[in-house]
Amino acid sequence: MKNNNIFKKIINHEISSNIIYQDNLITAFYDINPKAPVHILLVPNIEISTMNEINNKHKNILTRLMTVAVKIAIKKKINKSGYRLVINCNKHGCQDVYHLHIHLLGGKPLGPFCT
Ligand code: AMP
Repeated sequence: MKNNNIFKKIINHEISSNIIYQDNLITAFYDINPKAPVHILLVPNIEISTMNEINNKHKNILTRLMTVAVKIAIKKKINKSGYRLVINCNKHGCQDVYHLHIHLLGGKPLGPFCT
């Protein structure tokens, strides 16, 4: 998986995507198959395959992912109506892409559960 996952190619601008935010730690881009009017993925620039790999060394990345998710929610005007942040992990969590990512979903009532 190292250096060969689809999100890494997006981060490195090796394939086309709709990036809306990028800095030294994270990248955010529109999900190619949106499940809600707003569906944006936030990913660390370094390769972390799943939540299981997270440790204290990643606290700056995790903080940045969360704070930028909120900034994007405000920019998309869904902060007051509400939104959902989702991290899928491994098979039972329905993780398809093994590069850690947060789904930012909103723009409609999301119901009890979805990604
Ligand atoms: P997950 O099931 O949590 O691993 O979610 C993976 C997400 O990545 C899905 O919502 C896909 O629609 C999305 N996705 C896969 N390939 C791309 C891509 N090239 N650009 C944007 N989003 C993608």
